[in-house]
Amino acid sequence: MTSLHLYDTASRQKRVFEPQNPKRVTMYVCGPTVYGPAHIGNMRPPVVFDVLFRVLRGLYGEDHVLYARNFTDVDDKINAAAIKEGVDISVITDRFTKVYMDDTGALNVLVPTHQPTATGHMDDMIAMIETLIAKKVAYAAEGHVLFSVSAYEAYGAFSNRSLDDMIAGARVEVAPYKKDPADFVLWKPSKPGEPEWKAPFGAGRPGWHIECSAMIKTTLGETIDIHGGGIDLVFPHHENEIAQSVCAHDGKPLANYWMHNGFLSLNAEKMSKSLGNVIRPNELLAKGFSGEVLRYALMTAHYRAPLDWTDDLVDRARKSLDRLYGVLRRLTPIDVAPGMGAPEAVWTALKDDLNTPKALAALFEIAGRANKAETEDEQSQAKGELLASAKLLGLLEQDPEAWFGLSDLDPGEKARIDSLISERAQARANKDWAKADELRDTLGALNVLVEDSPEGANWRLKG
Ligand code: AMP
Ligand code: ZN
Repeated sequence: MTSLHLYDTASRQKRVFEPQNPKRVTMYVCGPTVYGPAHIGNMRPPVVFDVLFRVLRGLYGEDHVLYARNFTDVDDKINAAAIKEGVDISVITDRFTKVYMDDTGALNVLVPTHQPTATGHMDDMIAMIETLIAKKVAYAAEGHVLFSVSAYEAYGAFSNRSLDDMIAGARVEVAPYKKDPADFVLWKPSKPGEPEWKAPFGAGRPGWHIECSAMIKTTLGETIDIHGGGIDLVFPHHENEIAQSVCAHDGKPLANYWMHNGFLSLNAEKMSKSLGNVIRPNELLAKGFSGEVLRYALMTAHYRAPLDWTDDLVDRARKSLDRLYGVLRRLTPIDVAPGMGAPEAVWTALKDDLNTPKALAALFEIAGRANKAETEDEQSQAKGELLASAKLLGLLEQDPEAWFGLSDLDPGEKARIDSLISERAQARANKDWAKADELRDTLGALNVLVEDSPEGANWRLKG
């Protein structure tokens, strides 16, 4: 068995994954800022790290993997949205937390072990800021508390930036109360009308980076195994999380592996709220696409590669799932062989830095084998392998009849259509094109839409 290899952004190479404690594997992923609905690009991190969560659970056992994904519920954009509607920030954050849970649920994303919120961890943030002040790596100035980047020698090493680059890149806000323009905010005063929390260094609210550092420490510990997020978070967010946590914890690393997903574009342009070119998961669900189709589409590219979202991508994802569900539908009478797991080919693909395109290709190889199997033993084994592999990817968890919308169809009618479909397949095998065409017309008159695939014909009712 090969071991799990993960690409680590910090060392810029694929490394063998070795958890600190195989009975307690820890992973943290930066979650959404809940000020508005997510777009399909925002679904890439939860889906990618859900695959990793499933793989880790498969390798170390379900009870031995702790996964925390936070909700950023204290943020300027949330304050702005609350003021605009004249409501408490909790009205905004509760609403969009629910939307996020519905969207990720539709995409078969497992609920993480912990879902901490910034408002729920205010004391932890304040305590960490006090530690940083006591260690003289942070200072208070004009109601703010700032992290002093010159006090942390390795600042910039993670994202491979020099202080000059950071300033030249104008990614840092210059302010009179800063000793160094690259110093970043740990705490700041709230503006009138904004929520504020009491703290020894003055009432106010935390900065975004300290929220994650404190939530990681409280939910998982000082050093975690894996930290993930979108590639845009490398700098400044993760660079700053590292600076804070390493200084607060006497030099202990924050995470042993850092993983970042690539971006989703729409017709070759980065999908982002600020550009306004976003597609929301619920828009696609309302058009009749299953969440599983969206999940499948997101897994067709390697997680570090960019992925362009197009109608064609979604259409191909639906057709691929039709093929797999079609195979399962034909295998409905066959029981799954007991104790079947995902075969080596699927594991090898996923253990190679989560190569989902390769794992999906392996799924089709199993489906092909299941389809061609002649004995019941072979069928039951291939069906077991197919379902176990799909589960690892969060796919094929629906009943195949439901997938094709046939659950409520009269069984007699269903059997009649199935037998016409078989007759048509036989006619095609015999190259009796006239008969095949005639059967297609008969099926058409019964409102049946037939789709041929390499594994055989699948059908659903029109409209
Ligand atoms: P935001 O709501 O913009 O803070 O983004 C939430 C998460 O989604 C972050 O981890 C981002 O890295 C990620 N993200 C935002 N836009 C995209 C995109 N187009 N493709 C992939 N990930 C994205
Ligand atoms: Zn974070």
